[in-house]
Amino acid sequence: MTYHSTRGHAPVLPFDDVLLAGLARDGGLYLPRQWPRFSAAELATMAELPYAELAVRVMHPYLDGTIAEDDFAALVADAYGGFDHRAVAPLTQLAANDWLLELFHGPTLAFKDYALQLLGRLFDHVLTARGQRVTIVGATSGDTGSAAIEACRDREAVDIIILHPHGRTSEVQRRQMTTVAAANVHNIAIEGTFDDCQDLVKAMFGDHAFRDRLRLSAVNSINWARILGQTVYYMAAGLALGAPSREVAFAVPTGNFGNVYAALAARRMGLPVAQLVVGSNANDILTRFFESGEMSTGTVVPTLSPSMDIQISSNFERYLFDIFDGDCAEVTSRMGSLRQSGRFAIDSGRMSEVRALFDGFRLDDDSTREAIRRVHQESGVLLDPHSAIGVAAGRARRRSAAVPMVALATAHAAKFPDAVEAATGVRPALPARLADLFTRPERYDVLPNDLEAVKAYVRRAAKETS
Ligand SMILES: *Cc1c(COP(=O)(O)O)cnc(C)c1O
Repeated sequence: MTYHSTRGHAPVLPFDDVLLAGLARDGGLYLPRQWPRFSAAELATMAELPYAELAVRVMHPYLDGTIAEDDFAALVADAYGGFDHRAVAPLTQLAANDWLLELFHGPTLAFKDYALQLLGRLFDHVLTARGQRVTIVGATSGDTGSAAIEACRDREAVDIIILHPHGRTSEVQRRQMTTVAAANVHNIAIEGTFDDCQDLVKAMFGDHAFRDRLRLSAVNSINWARILGQTVYYMAAGLALGAPSREVAFAVPTGNFGNVYAALAARRMGLPVAQLVVGSNANDILTRFFESGEMSTGTVVPTLSPSMDIQISSNFERYLFDIFDGDCAEVTSRMGSLRQSGRFAIDSGRMSEVRALFDGFRLDDDSTREAIRRVHQESGVLLDPHSAIGVAAGRARRRSAAVPMVALATAHAAKFPDAVEAATGVRPALPARLADLFTRPERYDVLPNDLEAVKAYVRRAAKETS
């Protein structure tokens, strides 16, 4: 199977090249040219499989021979072997046909581990086969850096350098990054803001000689392999709840639209998904889109659910491609007007197809606290603010009481202890695997907000191969 760009002007590539490329050269996002589809009979047999075996069945068709099935099965088993629940992505029941899909059993307690643990191993496998190595560089406001670091630690063919704003992340967030004892992991605390960190990373990627010599790479949320790694838990949840003979609905706390796009992918593979509810915080560009048919950017405001504080949902372009039946010119023109004028609109005919599947729902911080409080009171379950938005959105927008509504719990409550304690009076404890986080030694270097200083650091840290 090969992959093409949503904008139609980049080379068609096999899976391994798409993995390493991330963004397509024309600025678009890669999508498979055909979607594998499982029959109802095949899905029924898949319901019996443990998570890692299901993952191989679901994902291997997308690799199309670029990685042998045995090798892939070993990578998958290794990726999920370290998760702290035997079901990997277990379901918890909150009420009648009201379910929680727990996606916080990986090393950093957030759903990004489910894709990134696999992505790091795929990078290593493909690069080693080619005799190459890369330097992953990224900026984090605190929340996503640790998942990338845990994904790349101890990988032979990868160095990883993550910039965070000095003194501006929470202590848990910083320690999840800086206590990773691996020779190929480098944390830089920049004397500046998150925006400064992002500008430094952009400037390094913008210096093409530097980028090529150090083989800079990224593990962005637009990477196709991240979407692929996220399709598996939708399949697992749907099959556990009775698919293919029973429909299922999902409520997804959404930022970049990567997670919910994976639900669309599972649907194309044959999972009977009746409804998708997109939950947003005050940064509600997506909820406004589902209401009005117009995508229009606003300014980002900080909320209790920082991983959803976004201005534009970068993965939405993949769905736009589907909305326009693969018409790259339409996609390119919409993305162009979004960049130039901050908006685009979709005609009402196409919007009625969109609304046949999707609903949006927005919660402000007060309602988010209220949702955390209510679920704790009803069922004793502690939700983090992102997961609470998922649960509340699913309850507010569900169309059929007969269809199980599965809300995605995207982070462990202990990642956001202050918000959870304020709402419930209970301070969530870190799980056993992280219980000693506050006594582990930290390793990081403080650098000024200065491009040349950061470049010199990256040169030293990366094992230059040329
Ligand atoms: C990244 C993240 C999200 C948003 O996921 P998208 O794929 O960007 O829509 C939601 N919750 C948590 C905890 C996250 O880390």
